[in-house]
Amino acid sequence: MKKKVFEENKLIIASHNLGKIKEIKKLLNPLNIEILSAYDLKVKEPDEDGCTFEENALIKSTYVSKATGLPCISDDSGICFADLNNEPGIHSARWAGKEKNFDLAMLKINEAIQKIEKPSYDCHFVCALSICWPDNYDITVSGRVDGKYCWPPKGDKGFGYDPIFKPLGHELTFAEMIPKFKHSISHRSVAFKKLINLSFPSLNS
Ligand code: IMP
Repeated sequence: MKKKVFEENKLIIASHNLGKIKEIKKLLNPLNIEILSAYDLKVKEPDEDGCTFEENALIKSTYVSKATGLPCISDDSGICFADLNNEPGIHSARWAGKEKNFDLAMLKINEAIQKIEKPSYDCHFVCALSICWPDNYDITVSGRVDGKYCWPPKGDKGFGYDPIFKPLGHELTFAEMIPKFKHSISHRSVAFKKLINLSFPSLNS
């Protein structure tokens, strides 16, 4: 694997989602480099017209890396419900509408699941992470965490669909867990560990 360094000691997070930026910044802490975001730099995000989480992550990291001339990391993530043919999946943000109303998105999911005759309540979060350098070299990986749907929503920590997701083997939803614990088991942390292994193996030693 070609080793890549951050020559300018800077990495841009290709996102405007403040919840996501906060989580990624925490995960990137050990790198000891300056972390900025597309939101800070007022760089717009491209249309996410890929068919998978990985494709969308790569579209975002490539676009923002080209726009800034700096290495960029992007995250494309979402929640998939087995009872809903894995929807909302890559459309997870869209289900919350322009207003980003996740209370409404969770209500829509509950309504759809109520219509299923024998729901399994199986669901999983996926996170694809992609780093793209200005020369177009990229490393793209994904991580997944399985769980069960929980209704009514519980907890007020985290963001997005956290209140309706209970990871397998746990009694609390992501939104009830202390953030540090969520970060240690989340889909984002699984993907991040893969990314670190491929791009900065020395950090794991
Ligand atoms: P996108 O990756 O920007 O397309 O948005 C993914 C959407 O999935 C977010 O807006 C959240 O609603 C949801 N999502 C992704 N990761 C998480 C998580 O860790 N907790 C809760 N919701 C999440």
